[in-house]
Amino acid sequence: MKKGEKMKIHGLMKMTLLDYPGLVACTVFLGGCDMRCPFCHNSEILDMNAPEEMDENGLYDFLGKREGLLDGVVFTGGEPLLRKELPEVMAKVHEMGFKIKLDTNGNHPDRLKEIVEAGLADYVAMDIKNSQDKYGITIGIPEFDISNVKKSVEYLLSGKVPYEFRTTVLKQFHDEESMKGISGWISGAERYYIQQFVDRDTVKYGGLEACSAEQMKTFLEIVKPHVKEAALRGV
Ligand code: SF4
Repeated sequence: MKKGEKMKIHGLMKMTLLDYPGLVACTVFLGGCDMRCPFCHNSEILDMNAPEEMDENGLYDFLGKREGLLDGVVFTGGEPLLRKELPEVMAKVHEMGFKIKLDTNGNHPDRLKEIVEAGLADYVAMDIKNSQDKYGITIGIPEFDISNVKKSVEYLLSGKVPYEFRTTVLKQFHDEESMKGISGWISGAERYYIQQFVDRDTVKYGGLEACSAEQMKTFLEIVKPHVKEAALRGV
């Protein structure tokens, strides 16, 4: 991005009761991601140069008309932390009086820390894609180095900001061993959610299947003793 150029926004969901726990929010989609999860719902915006829907000024105009109607703004992706200009945009959104939730894949611990320590995120949701041994396969990059993801987990566990970890589970990638691995990794976490996969037109690969409700309940029982709060989503 050149100096003075505005941050591009690849999608805006004008209202959601689901994306920001406890708040009425809108969701801002920022294109570009450094993972390639086969089950991604936003595969059409994984390239940062995908056609944008608006720039940050469009977001400010929208929010200006929603004061009193929305409580929060969710920045999601893609991977929002790939955007160097994000802290500035978040600061402006905060000034307008909205709470901010950041969704992240955890691959940018330094930027996460910077944003949290500047007080720009009120809540962070980080994906735990799978146990460490199955991480690369699950995100579509078998040789992926998870050291940054580990750093983000460690940072969030330190409790500097309210957070949740969450895993979208699929028959092809997750089993009881995955859950045991994740439990050990995020042990002591405040909140952990196991989310059901929903197939959509925007998922690039066919044949991916959600885990059954029964299987998900078994997963939940494995994780529960290791975290303070755990629940299923989407079942
Ligand atoms: S990290 Fe998120 S946005 Fe990136 S490919 Fe995976 S599911 Fe899609």
